[in-house]
Amino acid sequence: MEVSQRAKGIAPSATLFITNKAKVLKSQGVDIIGFGAGEPDYDTPTHIKDAACAALEEGFTKYTATEGIIPLKKAIKSKLQRRNGLEYDIDEIIVSCGAKHSLYNTFMCLLNPGDEVILPLPYWVSYDEQIRLCGAKVIAAEPEDNLKINGDTIRRFRTEKTKLLVLNSPNNPTGVVYSEEELKDIAEAVLETDMGIISDEVYEDFTYNGIKAQSIVKVAPELKDRTIIINGVSKTYSMTGWRIGYAAGPKEIIKAMGNLQAHSTSNPTSFAQIATVEALEGPQDSIEEMRQAFSTRRDYIADALDSIPGINCSKPSGAFYVFPKVSDLYGKTTKKGTLIKDSQSFSAALLDEALVAVVPGSAFGTDEYVRLSYACNLDSIKKGVDRIAKFVNSLR
Ligand code: PMP
Ligand code: GLU
Repeated sequence: MEVSQRAKGIAPSATLFITNKAKVLKSQGVDIIGFGAGEPDYDTPTHIKDAACAALEEGFTKYTATEGIIPLKKAIKSKLQRRNGLEYDIDEIIVSCGAKHSLYNTFMCLLNPGDEVILPLPYWVSYDEQIRLCGAKVIAAEPEDNLKINGDTIRRFRTEKTKLLVLNSPNNPTGVVYSEEELKDIAEAVLETDMGIISDEVYEDFTYNGIKAQSIVKVAPELKDRTIIINGVSKTYSMTGWRIGYAAGPKEIIKAMGNLQAHSTSNPTSFAQIATVEALEGPQDSIEEMRQAFSTRRDYIADALDSIPGINCSKPSGAFYVFPKVSDLYGKTTKKGTLIKDSQSFSAALLDEALVAVVPGSAFGTDEYVRLSYACNLDSIKKGVDRIAKFVNSLR
Protein backbone atom coordinates (compact mmCIF):
# COMPACT_ATOMS: atom_id res chain seq x y z
CA MET A 1 0.00 0.00 0.00
CA GLU A 2 1.34 3.41 -0.95
CA VAL A 3 1.51 6.37 1.41
CA SER A 4 -0.57 9.40 0.46
CA GLN A 5 0.71 12.31 -1.61
CA ARG A 6 0.29 14.40 1.53
CA ALA A 7 2.53 12.14 3.60
CA LYS A 8 5.07 11.90 0.81
CA GLY A 9 5.48 15.65 0.95
CA ILE A 10 6.54 15.70 4.61
CA ALA A 11 10.28 15.88 5.25
CA PRO A 12 11.68 14.31 8.44
CA SER A 13 12.27 16.81 11.26
CA ALA A 14 15.97 17.71 11.05
CA THR A 15 16.04 18.89 14.67
CA LEU A 16 14.50 15.71 16.05
CA PHE A 17 16.53 13.54 13.64
CA ILE A 18 19.86 14.98 14.80
CA THR A 19 18.82 14.95 18.47
CA ASN A 20 17.81 11.27 18.22
CA LYS A 21 20.93 10.33 16.24
CA ALA A 22 23.19 11.88 18.90
CA LYS A 23 21.21 10.06 21.64
CA VAL A 24 21.56 6.69 19.86
CA LEU A 25 25.32 7.16 19.28
CA LYS A 26 25.77 8.16 22.93
CA SER A 27 23.87 5.08 24.11
CA GLN A 28 26.24 2.98 21.99
CA GLY A 29 29.15 4.41 23.93
CA VAL A 30 30.30 6.88 21.26
CA ASP A 31 31.66 10.03 22.90
CA ILE A 32 29.36 12.47 21.08
CA ILE A 33 28.91 16.09 22.08
CA GLY A 34 25.35 16.93 21.12
CA PHE A 35 24.46 20.54 20.31
CA GLY A 36 21.39 19.38 18.41
CA ALA A 37 18.75 19.06 21.09
CA GLY A 38 16.38 21.94 21.49
CA GLU A 39 15.53 21.00 25.05
CA PRO A 40 16.85 22.12 28.44
CA ASP A 41 19.26 19.65 30.07
CA TYR A 42 17.61 20.22 33.47
CA ASP A 43 15.20 17.71 35.00
CA THR A 44 11.57 18.79 35.47
CA PRO A 45 11.38 20.42 38.95
CA THR A 46 10.42 17.96 41.72
CA HIS A 47 7.27 19.81 42.84
CA ILE A 48 5.88 19.46 39.31
CA LYS A 49 6.65 15.73 39.15
CA ASP A 50 5.12 15.30 42.62
CA ALA A 51 1.88 16.90 41.42
CA ALA A 52 1.67 14.40 38.56
CA CYS A 53 2.37 11.47 40.93
CA ALA A 54 -0.35 12.67 43.30
CA ALA A 55 -2.81 12.96 40.39
CA LEU A 56 -2.00 9.39 39.36
CA GLU A 57 -2.39 8.16 42.95
CA GLU A 58 -5.78 9.84 43.12
CA GLY A 59 -6.89 8.11 39.92
CA PHE A 60 -6.90 11.18 37.68
CA THR A 61 -6.36 8.90 34.71
CA LYS A 62 -9.48 9.29 32.57
CA TYR A 63 -10.53 11.45 29.64
CA THR A 64 -10.76 15.13 30.54
CA ALA A 65 -12.44 18.04 28.75
CA THR A 66 -11.00 18.01 25.23
CA GLU A 67 -9.74 21.62 25.41
CA GLY A 68 -8.08 21.09 28.81
CA ILE A 69 -9.32 21.07 32.41
CA ILE A 70 -10.76 24.28 33.83
CA PRO A 71 -8.09 24.68 36.59
CA LEU A 72 -5.40 24.58 33.92
CA LYS A 73 -7.18 27.04 31.66
CA LYS A 74 -7.55 29.31 34.70
CA ALA A 75 -3.84 28.95 35.47
CA ILE A 76 -3.02 29.88 31.87
CA LYS A 77 -5.39 32.86 32.07
CA SER A 78 -3.56 34.06 35.22
CA LYS A 79 -0.18 33.52 33.63
CA LEU A 80 -1.21 35.59 30.59
CA GLN A 81 -2.27 38.38 32.98
CA ARG A 82 0.78 38.13 35.23
CA ARG A 83 3.56 37.60 32.71
CA ASN A 84 2.15 39.20 29.57
CA GLY A 85 -0.29 41.80 30.87
CA LEU A 86 -3.03 40.28 28.67
CA GLU A 87 -6.68 39.46 29.37
CA TYR A 88 -8.09 36.27 27.90
CA ASP A 89 -11.32 34.46 28.83
CA ILE A 90 -11.34 30.76 29.53
CA ASP A 91 -13.05 30.07 26.18
CA GLU A 92 -10.26 31.92 24.38
CA ILE A 93 -7.72 29.33 25.59
CA ILE A 94 -7.12 25.73 24.50
CA VAL A 95 -4.62 23.23 25.89
CA SER A 96 -3.03 20.79 23.42
CA CYS A 97 -0.37 18.07 23.31
CA GLY A 98 2.63 20.40 23.12
CA ALA A 99 3.03 23.80 21.48
CA LYS A 100 3.74 21.94 18.24
CA HIS A 101 0.24 20.50 18.39
CA SER A 102 -1.21 23.94 19.21
CA LEU A 103 0.51 25.28 16.10
CA TYR A 104 -0.73 22.42 13.96
CA ASN A 105 -4.33 22.92 15.12
CA THR A 106 -4.05 26.65 14.49
CA PHE A 107 -2.78 26.28 10.94
CA MET A 108 -5.37 23.57 10.21
CA CYS A 109 -8.17 25.82 11.45
CA LEU A 110 -7.04 28.97 9.66
CA LEU A 111 -5.51 28.01 6.34
CA ASN A 112 -7.23 27.14 3.09
CA PRO A 113 -5.36 25.65 0.13
CA GLY A 114 -3.70 28.46 -1.79
CA ASP A 115 -3.45 30.84 1.17
CA GLU A 116 -0.02 32.38 1.69
CA VAL A 117 1.86 32.54 4.99
CA ILE A 118 4.78 34.92 5.49
CA LEU A 119 7.45 32.92 7.28
CA PRO A 120 10.55 34.95 8.17
CA LEU A 121 13.86 33.28 7.34
CA PRO A 122 15.42 31.41 9.06
CA TYR A 123 12.45 29.54 10.50
CA TRP A 124 11.97 26.62 12.84
CA VAL A 125 11.54 23.41 10.84
CA SER A 126 7.96 22.48 11.75
CA TYR A 127 6.23 25.72 10.65
CA ASP A 128 7.14 25.06 7.04
CA GLU A 129 5.90 21.45 7.04
CA GLN A 130 2.70 22.22 8.93
CA ILE A 131 1.76 25.11 6.63
CA ARG A 132 2.39 23.00 3.53
CA LEU A 133 0.35 20.12 5.02
CA CYS A 134 -2.63 22.51 4.99
CA GLY A 135 -2.12 23.06 1.25
CA ALA A 136 -1.06 26.65 1.93
CA LYS A 137 2.02 28.32 0.48
CA VAL A 138 5.08 29.27 2.53
CA ILE A 139 6.43 32.68 1.58
CA ALA A 140 9.96 32.53 3.00
CA ALA A 141 10.74 36.14 3.86
CA GLU A 142 14.38 37.22 3.82
CA PRO A 143 14.88 39.75 6.67
CA GLU A 144 16.15 43.23 5.89
CA ASP A 145 19.23 42.86 8.09
CA ASN A 146 20.44 41.39 11.36
CA LEU A 147 18.32 38.22 10.96
CA LYS A 148 15.24 40.30 11.90
CA ILE A 149 12.23 41.28 9.82
CA ASN A 150 10.57 44.70 10.04
CA GLY A 151 7.43 46.34 8.67
CA ASP A 152 8.98 46.74 5.21
CA THR A 153 9.75 43.02 5.02
CA ILE A 154 6.03 42.38 5.38
CA ARG A 155 5.21 45.04 2.78
CA ARG A 156 7.68 43.41 0.40
CA PHE A 157 6.27 39.90 0.72
CA ARG A 158 2.54 40.40 1.25
CA THR A 159 0.05 39.75 -1.55
CA GLU A 160 -3.74 39.51 -1.84
CA LYS A 161 -3.43 35.92 -0.72
CA THR A 162 -1.49 36.55 2.52
CA LYS A 163 -3.46 35.06 5.39
CA LEU A 164 -0.90 34.88 8.17
CA LEU A 165 2.47 36.05 9.45
CA VAL A 166 4.43 33.73 11.74
CA LEU A 167 6.35 35.60 14.41
CA ASN A 168 8.66 33.76 16.79
CA SER A 169 10.39 35.89 19.43
CA PRO A 170 12.68 34.86 21.11
CA ASN A 171 13.54 33.01 17.95
CA ASN A 172 14.52 29.47 17.14
CA PRO A 173 17.10 29.12 15.50
CA THR A 174 18.65 32.62 15.72
CA GLY A 175 17.95 33.58 19.34
CA VAL A 176 16.95 37.11 18.28
CA VAL A 177 14.39 38.92 20.43
CA TYR A 178 12.21 41.69 18.96
CA SER A 179 12.08 44.93 20.95
CA GLU A 180 8.88 46.84 21.62
CA GLU A 181 9.69 49.34 18.84
CA GLU A 182 10.40 46.56 16.37
CA LEU A 183 7.13 44.82 17.24
CA LYS A 184 5.26 48.12 16.80
CA ASP A 185 6.79 48.56 13.37
CA ILE A 186 5.74 45.03 12.38
CA ALA A 187 2.26 45.59 13.84
CA GLU A 188 1.84 48.74 11.72
CA ALA A 189 2.50 46.83 8.50
CA VAL A 190 0.18 44.01 9.56
CA LEU A 191 -2.60 46.48 10.39
CA GLU A 192 -2.46 47.90 6.85
CA THR A 193 -3.87 44.53 5.74
CA ASP A 194 -6.27 41.97 7.17
CA MET A 195 -3.65 39.25 7.73
CA GLY A 196 -3.45 37.46 11.07
CA ILE A 197 -0.45 36.62 13.26
CA ILE A 198 0.74 33.43 14.87
CA SER A 199 2.93 34.59 17.75
CA ASP A 200 5.04 31.70 19.03
CA GLU A 201 6.31 32.73 22.47
CA VAL A 202 7.65 29.43 23.82
CA TYR A 203 11.08 30.90 24.67
CA GLU A 204 9.71 34.08 26.32
CA ASP A 205 11.44 33.51 29.67
CA PHE A 206 14.90 32.86 28.27
CA THR A 207 16.32 36.29 27.52
CA TYR A 208 19.63 37.84 28.57
CA ASN A 209 21.32 41.16 29.41
CA GLY A 210 18.18 42.63 30.94
CA ILE A 211 16.10 42.25 27.78
CA LYS A 212 12.48 41.21 28.37
CA ALA A 213 10.45 39.54 25.63
CA GLN A 214 7.04 41.10 25.03
CA SER A 215 4.03 39.70 23.25
CA ILE A 216 3.04 41.61 20.10
CA VAL A 217 -0.53 41.66 21.46
CA LYS A 218 0.65 43.67 24.47
CA VAL A 219 2.55 46.09 22.26
CA ALA A 220 -0.31 46.47 19.74
CA PRO A 221 -3.61 45.56 21.45
CA GLU A 222 -5.49 46.24 18.16
CA LEU A 223 -4.02 42.94 16.97
CA LYS A 224 -5.67 40.85 19.69
CA ASP A 225 -8.63 39.76 17.55
CA ARG A 226 -6.36 38.48 14.78
CA THR A 227 -3.49 36.92 16.74
CA ILE A 228 -3.09 33.44 18.10
CA ILE A 229 -0.53 33.28 20.89
CA ILE A 230 1.25 29.95 21.13
CA ASN A 231 3.07 28.89 24.28
CA GLY A 232 3.77 25.82 26.40
CA VAL A 233 5.72 24.41 29.29
CA SER A 234 8.31 22.35 27.38
CA LYS A 235 11.07 24.93 27.55
CA THR A 236 10.18 27.19 30.50
CA TYR A 237 9.80 24.32 32.97
CA SER A 238 11.95 21.74 31.22
CA MET A 239 8.90 19.59 30.45
CA THR A 240 9.57 18.58 26.84
CA GLY A 241 8.39 15.01 27.33
CA TRP A 242 5.12 15.92 29.04
CA ARG A 243 3.58 17.32 25.87
CA ILE A 244 1.55 20.27 27.08
CA GLY A 245 1.17 23.44 25.03
CA TYR A 246 -1.56 25.98 24.63
CA ALA A 247 -3.04 28.63 22.36
CA ALA A 248 -4.90 31.85 23.19
CA GLY A 249 -6.92 33.76 20.62
CA PRO A 250 -10.37 34.63 19.31
CA LYS A 251 -13.13 32.40 20.66
CA GLU A 252 -14.39 31.08 17.30
CA ILE A 253 -10.91 29.95 16.24
CA ILE A 254 -10.24 28.32 19.61
CA LYS A 255 -13.61 26.55 19.30
CA ALA A 256 -12.70 25.23 15.85
CA MET A 257 -9.39 23.99 17.26
CA GLY A 258 -11.34 22.19 19.99
CA ASN A 259 -13.46 20.43 17.38
CA LEU A 260 -10.37 19.36 15.47
CA GLN A 261 -8.74 18.14 18.66
CA ALA A 262 -11.90 16.23 19.64
CA HIS A 263 -11.55 14.14 16.47
CA SER A 264 -7.80 13.70 16.56
CA THR A 265 -6.05 13.49 19.94
CA SER A 266 -8.92 14.26 22.40
CA ASN A 267 -7.59 15.79 25.63
CA PRO A 268 -3.91 16.27 26.44
CA THR A 269 -2.73 13.71 29.05
CA SER A 270 -4.78 14.07 32.24
CA PHE A 271 -2.02 13.98 34.87
CA ALA A 272 0.34 16.11 32.74
CA GLN A 273 -2.35 18.81 32.87
CA ILE A 274 -2.33 18.65 36.69
CA ALA A 275 1.46 18.91 36.66
CA THR A 276 1.16 21.95 34.39
CA VAL A 277 -1.17 23.69 36.87
CA GLU A 278 1.58 23.21 39.47
CA ALA A 279 4.23 24.45 37.01
CA LEU A 280 2.31 27.66 36.33
CA GLU A 281 1.12 28.30 39.88
CA GLY A 282 3.84 26.79 42.07
CA PRO A 283 7.37 28.12 42.81
CA GLN A 284 8.95 29.77 39.76
CA ASP A 285 12.63 29.82 40.87
CA SER A 286 13.68 27.00 38.50
CA ILE A 287 13.18 29.36 35.54
CA GLU A 288 15.68 31.91 36.84
CA GLU A 289 18.14 29.16 37.75
CA MET A 290 18.07 27.83 34.18
CA ARG A 291 18.13 31.31 32.67
CA GLN A 292 21.28 32.22 34.58
CA ALA A 293 23.00 29.00 33.59
CA PHE A 294 22.03 29.56 29.94
CA SER A 295 23.32 33.12 30.14
CA THR A 296 26.79 31.93 31.27
CA ARG A 297 26.85 29.24 28.60
CA ARG A 298 25.74 31.67 25.91
CA ASP A 299 28.59 34.06 26.74
CA TYR A 300 31.10 31.25 26.59
CA ILE A 301 29.90 29.50 23.44
CA ALA A 302 29.30 32.64 21.36
CA ASP A 303 32.75 34.10 22.17
CA ALA A 304 34.54 30.78 21.72
CA LEU A 305 32.91 30.07 18.35
CA ASP A 306 33.48 33.62 17.13
CA SER A 307 37.19 33.32 17.87
CA ILE A 308 37.54 30.38 15.45
CA PRO A 309 38.85 31.70 12.09
CA GLY A 310 36.16 31.19 9.43
CA ILE A 311 33.26 31.21 11.90
CA ASN A 312 31.24 34.32 12.75
CA CYS A 313 29.00 34.10 15.77
CA SER A 314 26.99 36.94 17.26
CA LYS A 315 25.61 36.81 20.78
CA PRO A 316 21.86 36.30 20.63
CA SER A 317 19.53 37.92 23.19
CA GLY A 318 17.25 34.96 23.79
CA ALA A 319 16.26 31.26 23.54
CA PHE A 320 19.14 28.78 23.98
CA TYR A 321 20.66 28.64 20.52
CA VAL A 322 23.60 30.23 18.75
CA PHE A 323 23.50 30.48 14.98
CA PRO A 324 27.04 30.96 13.69
CA LYS A 325 27.82 31.69 10.06
CA VAL A 326 30.11 29.00 8.65
CA SER A 327 29.86 29.66 4.91
CA ASP A 328 33.40 31.12 4.76
CA LEU A 329 34.55 27.51 5.20
CA TYR A 330 32.66 26.21 2.16
CA GLY A 331 35.01 24.99 -0.54
CA LYS A 332 37.50 23.54 1.96
CA THR A 333 38.26 19.83 2.41
CA THR A 334 38.38 17.75 5.58
CA LYS A 335 41.21 15.43 6.69
CA LYS A 336 39.21 12.49 5.37
CA GLY A 337 38.87 14.21 2.00
CA THR A 338 35.25 15.39 2.27
CA LEU A 339 34.44 18.63 0.48
CA ILE A 340 32.55 21.08 2.70
CA LYS A 341 30.12 22.61 0.25
CA ASP A 342 27.11 23.58 2.37
CA SER A 343 25.71 23.46 5.93
CA GLN A 344 24.61 19.85 5.45
CA SER A 345 28.08 18.59 4.46
CA PHE A 346 29.68 20.72 7.20
CA SER A 347 27.39 19.18 9.86
CA ALA A 348 27.77 15.64 8.53
CA ALA A 349 31.59 15.88 8.45
CA LEU A 350 31.67 17.49 11.91
CA LEU A 351 29.67 14.57 13.30
CA ASP A 352 31.70 11.95 11.47
CA GLU A 353 35.19 13.37 12.03
CA ALA A 354 34.88 15.38 15.26
CA LEU A 355 31.93 13.64 16.99
CA VAL A 356 30.00 16.89 17.40
CA ALA A 357 26.31 17.15 16.47
CA VAL A 358 24.92 20.47 15.17
CA VAL A 359 21.86 21.22 13.02
CA PRO A 360 22.54 22.46 9.46
CA GLY A 361 21.10 25.90 8.68
CA SER A 362 19.50 24.47 5.52
CA ALA A 363 16.91 22.83 7.81
CA PHE A 364 15.82 26.38 8.72
CA GLY A 365 16.01 27.65 5.14
CA THR A 366 19.38 29.45 5.55
CA ASP A 367 22.33 27.47 4.27
CA GLU A 368 25.17 29.78 5.41
CA TYR A 369 24.68 28.90 9.07
CA VAL A 370 24.48 26.01 11.56
CA ARG A 371 22.56 25.92 14.85
CA LEU A 372 23.99 24.86 18.19
CA SER A 373 21.85 24.49 21.30
CA TYR A 374 23.69 25.46 24.48
CA ALA A 375 21.14 23.75 26.71
CA CYS A 376 23.87 21.31 27.75
CA ASN A 377 26.46 21.54 30.54
CA LEU A 378 29.40 23.93 30.33
CA ASP A 379 32.01 21.13 30.33
CA SER A 380 30.41 19.57 27.27
CA ILE A 381 30.20 22.98 25.62
CA LYS A 382 33.93 23.58 26.23
CA LYS A 383 34.86 20.14 24.94
CA GLY A 384 32.56 20.47 21.93
CA VAL A 385 33.86 23.90 20.93
CA ASP A 386 37.47 22.66 21.25
CA ARG A 387 36.62 19.85 18.87
CA ILE A 388 34.99 22.26 16.43
CA ALA A 389 38.07 24.52 16.56
CA LYS A 390 40.40 21.56 15.84
CA PHE A 391 38.14 20.37 13.02
CA VAL A 392 37.97 23.81 11.40
CA ASN A 393 41.71 24.42 11.81
CA SER A 394 42.43 21.11 10.08
CA LEU A 395 40.42 22.03 6.96
CA ARG A 396 42.45 22.64 3.80
N1 PMP B 1 7.92 26.47 18.81
C1 PMP B 1 9.25 26.57 18.74
C2 PMP B 1 9.86 27.82 18.22
C3 PMP B 1 10.06 25.51 19.15
O1 PMP B 1 11.39 25.61 19.07
C4 PMP B 1 9.46 24.34 19.63
C5 PMP B 1 10.41 23.23 19.99
N2 PMP B 1 10.02 22.16 20.46
C6 PMP B 1 8.05 24.29 19.69
C7 PMP B 1 7.31 25.38 19.26
C8 PMP B 1 7.29 23.10 20.16
O2 PMP B 1 7.43 22.85 21.50
P1 PMP B 1 6.60 21.71 22.23
O3 PMP B 1 5.77 21.01 21.21
O4 PMP B 1 7.60 20.81 22.85
O5 PMP B 1 5.74 22.38 23.24
N1 GLU C 1 12.09 22.66 19.05
C1 GLU C 1 13.26 21.92 19.42
C2 GLU C 1 14.34 22.14 18.38
O1 GLU C 1 14.21 23.00 17.55
C3 GLU C 1 12.93 20.49 19.67
C4 GLU C 1 12.87 19.58 18.49
C5 GLU C 1 11.67 19.86 17.66
O2 GLU C 1 10.57 19.71 18.19
O3 GLU C 1 11.86 20.25 16.52
O4 GLU C 1 15.34 21.48 18.44
